[in-house]
Amino acid sequence: MSKSLPSRSENYSEWYNELVKRADLAENSAVRGCMIIKPYGYSIWEKMQRALDDMFKETGHTNAYFPLFIPKSFLSKEASHVEGFAKECAVVTHYRLKNDPNGGGVIVDPDAKLEEELIVRPTSETVIWSTYKNWIQSYRDLPLLINQWANVVRWEMRTRLFLRTAEFLWQEGHTAHATKQEAIEETEQMLEVYADFAENFMAMPVVKGIKTANERFAGADETYCIEALMQDGKALQAGTSHFLGQNFAKAFDVKFLSKENQLDYVWGTSWGVSTRLMGALIMAHSDDQGLVLPPKLAPIQVVIVPIYKGEDQLNAIKEKVNPLVKSLRKQGVSVKFDVSENQSPGFKFAEYELKGVPIRLAIGNRDMENGTIELARRDTREKTSMAFEGIEQVVVDTLTDIQEKIYAKALAFRTENTHVVNTWDEFNAKLDAGGFVSAHWDGTSETEDKIKDLTKATIRCIPLDAKEEAGQCILTGNPSNKRVMFARAY
Ligand code: AMP
Repeated sequence: MSKSLPSRSENYSEWYNELVKRADLAENSAVRGCMIIKPYGYSIWEKMQRALDDMFKETGHTNAYFPLFIPKSFLSKEASHVEGFAKECAVVTHYRLKNDPNGGGVIVDPDAKLEEELIVRPTSETVIWSTYKNWIQSYRDLPLLINQWANVVRWEMRTRLFLRTAEFLWQEGHTAHATKQEAIEETEQMLEVYADFAENFMAMPVVKGIKTANERFAGADETYCIEALMQDGKALQAGTSHFLGQNFAKAFDVKFLSKENQLDYVWGTSWGVSTRLMGALIMAHSDDQGLVLPPKLAPIQVVIVPIYKGEDQLNAIKEKVNPLVKSLRKQGVSVKFDVSENQSPGFKFAEYELKGVPIRLAIGNRDMENGTIELARRDTREKTSMAFEGIEQVVVDTLTDIQEKIYAKALAFRTENTHVVNTWDEFNAKLDAGGFVSAHWDGTSETEDKIKDLTKATIRCIPLDAKEEAGQCILTGNPSNKRVMFARAY
């Protein structure tokens, strides 16, 4: 049997890295910062994609695809956008290789220099708005509600599997509207979609809020976000939705004729979540035995392991279990009946625990005689012997219960680790303890920077539900009318 994982309390970071590898989710590639997503990891991502895609369609969006390469001149059109992304762009300069006449192997052909250098998209606002210019003429063309599933490249210096990679998979929604109000409503609607997905599929509670100017998306007027708390007390930005104002419409000259026959710039939004959500899912729920997956995103929801000696016993178990497998599948439950003979039941138990399969059923000879079956829940690791008769309904109900309990546990953890503080000493003490720290801030970028330098904590967001409340900035003592959420973050 493989050796056990490092424990979370011992070394959270090692625990995470090892878990990602051992559970067959992903591995590092030859290119630093890029990852290979393995089939098991990818099947979780596919479940996320499917659920999100359905939610996008339900809210009126359709998918399209735009190119990977962006002419350098496009990126420069929106000043703050290029400034924000310039530091992490991969640039294509040539289109051909050749054999080195001096015997140095294959080299870039200096004669194949591109006239205009191309940027590998770090995000697609520029290429999409240059297209929208051709698609939008009048109010009848609006709103334009488009999403794309794609990969993007941001040359990140400090990377970690899923959480921050140089190339990542994501979806990016890009919408165009006739009015400011409608664009803001869209931005807020998509934030709600993300929060709904995080809480109801990932079983991960999130704080919905607005980013400060320092943390705002380059080119946006306002960035909304969802922030989640990981088990080590660090925060993770799990999704963003941007109100772009008319910034990209102005940069790409996208105007429309209104009902009143007025020519005006179009209002825009963009919003995205990425494979970072895989990291969030792992860090939010998993334990020292391995992954804990919410049933709604688990590729295998139920595994059935037979315990037997000889073919006759196995055949008898198969005869009893096959109809159960069939009817569970009919109800939409994904079931694996693991009759493989090359591994012992003990090995299989550990493996499915590592992989976070929510329910394990085990059935042996004694169960066959007694009309029972053993049900083990991954979340609590409780094992119960049950009557075989009626097990199907128990399984279905238990899946629902696991989904709810995982969420409730994560919510209780977040509640315990959200601190309201009023003094600088308390602020530091709570940051060291880990978690969200709700404190007053004077609203200036300088103070935010200073706090970051002193404590490594950032303002995760100004929560949407923050109440008006007179207070004093935790650092400067200057007046503040709202608390903001600080944390050390990934
Ligand atoms: P942004 O376009 O910067 O608002 O990011 C959109 C989404 O991508 C957010 O949900 C981020 O959490 C996520 N994201 C940003 N950078 C990375 C990265 N290097 N690796 C994985 N996800 C990322």
